[in-house]
Amino acid sequence: MSYLELKNVDKYYGDVHAIKGVNLTINKGEFIVFVGPSGCGKSTLLRMIAGLEEINDGDLVLDGNEITHQAPSKRDLAMVFQSYALYPHMTVEENMSFALRIKGEEQSIIDQKVAKAADTLNLTPYLKRTPKELSGGQRQRVAIGRAIVRSPKVFLFDEPLSNLDAALRGQTRVEIAELHRDLNATSIYVTHDQVEAMTLADRVVVLQGGVIEQVGTPMELYEAPANKFVAQFIGQPQMNLLSASYFSGISADAVDVGVRPEHFSIVDAGQGAISGQVELIEALGNETLIHVCLEGSGEKLIVRQYEQPSIKVRDSVSINYDASHLHQFDAKGEAIR
Ligand code: ADP
Repeated sequence: MSYLELKNVDKYYGDVHAIKGVNLTINKGEFIVFVGPSGCGKSTLLRMIAGLEEINDGDLVLDGNEITHQAPSKRDLAMVFQSYALYPHMTVEENMSFALRIKGEEQSIIDQKVAKAADTLNLTPYLKRTPKELSGGQRQRVAIGRAIVRSPKVFLFDEPLSNLDAALRGQTRVEIAELHRDLNATSIYVTHDQVEAMTLADRVVVLQGGVIEQVGTPMELYEAPANKFVAQFIGQPQMNLLSASYFSGISADAVDVGVRPEHFSIVDAGQGAISGQVELIEALGNETLIHVCLEGSGEKLIVRQYEQPSIKVRDSVSINYDASHLHQFDAKGEAIR
């Protein structure tokens, strides 16, 4: 059932058309991730939902009520910011209870809600500390706790992990996933990191230049990208894109063909459809990435393999592709189904 709906929403900053007629329906309990390169409009879209940016055109509907021009405080949404935005002079407990105290909530209910959120987020031992006495990960959990106690209709996360180091980012990502599993709260999460998008989302919204390129489950985006942009944005290393002339049995309209690194394989000399020279071998332990420059055209591709390779840099290699996993794109870059 549609819970939060964006209907043809637009945003202009002067002459900049930052969000261009976006339509999106979010269901209750869904974890939605907005992802895209810097400047694609993901933060603007989140802030429009929060009420922190004006919506210039279109409608926003939450739980059956039109809230397009409603004040942020009336929207029943809670935002978790990248900068945490905690009050430095207040303890964890005071930070978490602030919104409820402002609302004039009864003290016993405040205590109960803060205790429950602190327990969920493993913050109980730190309730009397101030933010400066906490690690970055703990501060981020306080910021999330402050949102939880309000029991909002929707949680909005604005790049909440980007101030954490790589190890802590991975750990906090898992905690956010577990929290969502436990609370089942409708959440919208903005990130430029496709790994966060793929691991957290029920559905991912890929944005570019203020428009939605594709909406789908992580595996839908990985296995059936709608266009070249999504194909290359999702997946690490990127999907290889080669001229259609290397492939047989494909559509006459295909201009580029995409192949994920794991769908190429190195085969015996002369046995493969494509030949080239090895430029670089990245042994990552669990997998090896073999970078190859193709004969004649100079196009490049990456082969992912899970066995130890017996080849060396500068070797000539023959490469085959898995014909059931080709992604064909037309002259406009749209996928040919
Ligand atoms: P993202 O979060 O994807 O990096 P933003 O939503 O911040 O992108 O920005 C989308 C577009 O709107 C960009 O072109 C950006 O330069 C522009 N923009 C964002 N905020 C403002 C602002 N306050 N004034 C003018 N332009 C802005």
